[in-house]
Amino acid sequence: MKPIWPNLFQITLYNGPGAQQLIRRMLDDLFLPWPHIIAGLAIIICAAYSAWLGGDRFATEAIAIMIVHMSYRIAIHRHYLSYGYADRERYWTRLFFASALISGLAWGTSLSLLIVSAPNEVKYLTLTVACVIIQSATARAFMAPLPLILQTLLLVIMVVSTSVWNGDWIVAPAAVLFIAFQAGHMRHLIAMRFREWQAQKDKDHLVARLAKANDDLSEANEALRKAALTDGLTGLANRRAFDLHLELHCSPEAGTSEPVSLIFFDVDRFKSFNDTHGHQAGDHCLELIGHCARSVLTSTWQMAARYGGEEFALILPMTGADEARRIAEALREKVSHLPIPVGAEETHVTISLGVATADKLTAATPSALLTHADLALYRAKQRGRNRVEVVETASETEIHDALRYLRTT
Ligand code: GH3
Ligand code: MG
Ligand code: MG
Repeated sequence: MKPIWPNLFQITLYNGPGAQQLIRRMLDDLFLPWPHIIAGLAIIICAAYSAWLGGDRFATEAIAIMIVHMSYRIAIHRHYLSYGYADRERYWTRLFFASALISGLAWGTSLSLLIVSAPNEVKYLTLTVACVIIQSATARAFMAPLPLILQTLLLVIMVVSTSVWNGDWIVAPAAVLFIAFQAGHMRHLIAMRFREWQAQKDKDHLVARLAKANDDLSEANEALRKAALTDGLTGLANRRAFDLHLELHCSPEAGTSEPVSLIFFDVDRFKSFNDTHGHQAGDHCLELIGHCARSVLTSTWQMAARYGGEEFALILPMTGADEARRIAEALREKVSHLPIPVGAEETHVTISLGVATADKLTAATPSALLTHADLALYRAKQRGRNRVEVVETASETEIHDALRYLRTT
């Protein structure tokens, strides 16, 4: 168990998350006037009994002290309620500390007055009341250890020294035993409370770690989701992401009357590039082409994807045929001037591009758009490569030929 002495001045030994509410709750309890009213009434009864039996020398004084003390306790409780806890923890802690000592002094004085003046039968009643007050203070000591320990000591010292001075020396050893018993009881309560707070602290710590683990897991999930939709070589969207995006923007369910364009492009004679410069240079070339493809996009709706091998695609929602052709032409131009490092030298490659557009007049299904873009790419290859072809309508035979060609390359 950690040492608790450094924390004794504080209201609570716990200083983890939620400590402020705990301190507030304890102060709410500590300022309650009821224990003081009950203790005060018990002392007043002793004093009244003493007066009734004729030992009225200090009974009035004891009663007066208790009335003033109870009024003080009620007043500070109202003061606490009217100001509210707010952020004045230090102020309330100090006020409670001072009030605990004032209470110890008030009880000690009134009980001492009764011990010196009351008849014997009241004296024992008075000592019993003192014991009950000490017992109740020690039972609350776990909330504010230092003030309540000092309060108890003050009361005990006053009552015992008055008794001894009055000739009742037997009270002294009895008080020592009683105090030893109470100290053990108090220590036990404080230790129990401390373990409870420690457990609370451990729980808060675990909850925080759990929350962090959850965040890490969400992050990892997000990274995984991104990885599942990203092409490893070029960093562009992969085929899966392409299919989803096309479905999203080009299907009757998308409910848009805006045109959607699709550009397919394929690196020209890439097989011979690989054969000449090696696969690694080929990979790097695809990477650079990927950057180019991304650089011609003009809005976040547009997507550049690696369709597979050395084939790429651009999905251009809300883009008509003219704008799509312009983008395709810009990309063709850019790639043709792109320096591709091969060993210590540089070379260039070209691409062929096919553009298809689905507007509100065309049945905008992903597969129709794909077929038309495929056909456009086929035409670009057929008509000499390094060029852009746009297909708006096509015959069955043309589509059939194009698909046969594209399946074999
Ligand atoms: P065409 O102009 O008709 O498209 O000719 P091509 O040589 O590009 O056509 P073909 O489809 O016959 O060859 C494609 C080549 O692309 C074959 C393959 O080695 C290469 N390739 C496909 N994927 C990759 C890749 O990830 N890395 C590299 N380095 N090469 C690839
Ligand atoms: Mg090719
Ligand atoms: Mg190809």
